[in-house]
This record gives sequence, C-alpha cells and structure tokens, in this order.
Amino acid sequence: MKIAVLPGDGIGPEIVAQAVKVLDVLRGDGLKIELEYAHIGGAGYDAAGDPFPAATEKLALASDAVLLGAVGGYQYDTLPRPMRPEQGLLRIRKGLGLFANLRPAMVYPELVNASTLRSDIVSGLDIMILRELTGDIYFGQPRGVRVLDDGERQGFDTMHYNESEVRRVAHVGFQIAMKRNKKMCSVDKANVLDTSMFWREIVTDVAQAYPEVALSHMYVDNAAMQLVRAPKQFDVILTGNIFGDILSDEASMLTGSIGMLPSASLDSNNKGLYEPCHGSAPDIAGKDIANPLATILSVAMMMQYTFERADVAQRIEAAVRKVLQQGLRTGDIYEDGKQKIGCAAMGDAVVAAL
Ligand code: NAD
Repeated sequence: MKIAVLPGDGIGPEIVAQAVKVLDVLRGDGLKIELEYAHIGGAGYDAAGDPFPAATEKLALASDAVLLGAVGGYQYDTLPRPMRPEQGLLRIRKGLGLFANLRPAMVYPELVNASTLRSDIVSGLDIMILRELTGDIYFGQPRGVRVLDDGERQGFDTMHYNESEVRRVAHVGFQIAMKRNKKMCSVDKANVLDTSMFWREIVTDVAQAYPEVALSHMYVDNAAMQLVRAPKQFDVILTGNIFGDILSDEASMLTGSIGMLPSASLDSNNKGLYEPCHGSAPDIAGKDIANPLATILSVAMMMQYTFERADVAQRIEAAVRKVLQQGLRTGDIYEDGKQKIGCAAMGDAVVAAL
C-alpha cells in the first residue's frame, strides 16, 4: 500500500498527522503500508513556486492512493489564479483522472443533536453523493471575459459532458447503489439545460444494465429543497460537477459538522485520492482544535475502495464510533456534558480505540 501523503495548508498538517497515527497502528498490525510526503496547494507554492509541483505529481502517479489534508490560505488569495492553492487540487484530480467523487453524509447517533435540523429529520441518515469531478462547467472551454460587438464586457464559461464521461460515472453510481439500498437519484437541470437532457438520456440508458436499481431523476433545485425537507428519501445521489459541489456541501451540514465527513475521488481502477470534505480552516489552524475525524474516516474509505479491505475500514469506523460513545468531542461537535479535547488528543483516542 504505497500512499502519498500531502498535508497541504492550514489545519491540513495537524489533521493528517492524526490519520498517519492510525496508519502507523495498521502497519504495526501487519499491513504493508509505505508513506511518502509531498507538498500541495500553498505549501507547494511556498516550496516550489507551484501549487502542484512536478515532484508531487510524480509521487502521486507512482502511488496507489493519496491522502490529502486541505489547501488554501488568506496569504495566497492575491496570487494569480494559476498559482492559487485550489489549482493544485483541480490539477491533481485531473492529472490522476479522478472522475468519481464519493461523499457520504451520515449522521452518527451520538451526534444527532449537532445538526441544525430536527433530529427526527436526520437521525439514521446515510446517503452517498457521487459527484462527477473532472468535467462540466468547471473544466469546459472556452471560458473567460470577452468584449462584445457593442463594447460591453461579458464573463462566460462552457458547460459540456461527453457521453463517455457520463457513462463511466453512471456505472460507478449504479455499482455503489447495488452495494447499498439499490436506489439512485440522478440530479440534473434537464428542464433548462441541453447538457442535462443529454445526461439524463445517458444515465437512463446505463440503467438498463442494472435492473435491480430503482433509478429516479430530480431537478437540482428540487433536490436542494428535498435534502433539507426529507433527506432520508435518498440513498445514492448521482450528479455532475457543479451541482454536486453545491449539494454535497448542503448534505454535509445535515450531519452537523463538516469536521466528520470524509471523501474519496477515484479513477477507473479505484486508485484514489482521499481527503476530508472541509477546507483548510485557516481561522483555527495551528491551535490544535481541528477535528481530525473526517481525515481518519478518509483513511477508512481508502481501505475500502482502493485496497479492498472493508474489514480494516470497519475497524477504523468502529474506533471512531467508540471515541464518540466515550463522550470525547472536538470543539466543532461539542455539546454540554461531553469532554472537549484537541486535535492530537482525538487522534490518540482513536489510536487507543483501535
Ligand atoms: P473551511 O471548510 O476551511 O472552513 C469552514 C468553517 O468550518 C470554518 O469556520 C472552519 O474553522 C470550520 N472547519 C473546517 N474544518 C474543520 C475541522 N476539521 N474541525 C473543526 N472546524 C472545521 O472552508 P472556508 O473557510 O470556506 O475555506 C478556507 C480555505 O479552504 C479557503 O482557502 C478555501 O479555498 C479552502 N478550501 C479547500 C478545500 C480543500 O482543500 N478540499 C475545500 C474547501 C475550501
């Protein structure tokens, strides 16, 4: 298991250090884990003048999986766009062909009160959002700012999806649905966008290969509403890049804390990049108060999807459940009567539970 470790910026190094403690335990128990570190994001810019340095790209390509903390920081906000930390993320996703982004949103019984929604709406919630990650309006060309014939300036981007892009992510969605409750909702804006009409046509066609999965379609505006009205109606949500970006953040807040949510981004061979859903949280960086559980749970997803060790994944998830049951909480998920601890102590608690 050759893993590239890219801590990145802000709280990235703190939370990744806790996940590495977990990997160290697993290695001690006999897994052949090899770790190698590299820079990405602002750290890449500081070290090599590039948010995705060539050495990082080489390491990521040569590894089976990548563990990433987060990128971004106020000090980089004024850099020209190609040098911004977020470009490092876009480039590693594109460079590794990571087209399938899996973001589970589940509510732990111990944290049901952390959600801003009523507990009866969210308790028992367990949905998987599958977002296409390398196409759509985020990558479409042409884009830019142009001057129209009448002299007015215009900003523009291009939304498009190739048939092969839709097919491959739809297959991933159906395969995930087969392993869950065999229900998938494809989200689009087919009432307005030609790209979405095409998306819907292809997803419907791919569905024929998965007769056991109940496929439904929903417009993205309705999906945004349904996610807060009755989120438990969903099992797997399949959607494109821009809609998935927004809906997965919305879904993450159903669970109460973004500090609990892992993610996986996979290529067609299940090589993957694993990272927490949250960003670099510069407001709390360096204070040892960040929640490392999303990053630790990202290691669980790595074991499940890239290394096909569901047993190890379940062991990590059980350890996380155990520390929550023990009443240990970082500040973001703290409530009265529980014990507030820091980032490193939370990592140690998970290690002890393992
Ligand atoms: P953010 O996710 O970093 O932070 C949002 C809020 O959640 C902040 O109040 C933060 O303190 C809190 N938070 C986030 N993670 C936490 C954790 N593990 N434990 C406790 N609290 C946590 O989003 P933002 O503030 O919009 O962005 C900050 C920077 O991160 C920006 O530069 C942005 O571009 C970048 N960003 C990076 C990624 C990524 O690396 N994948 C994703 C989103 C944003």
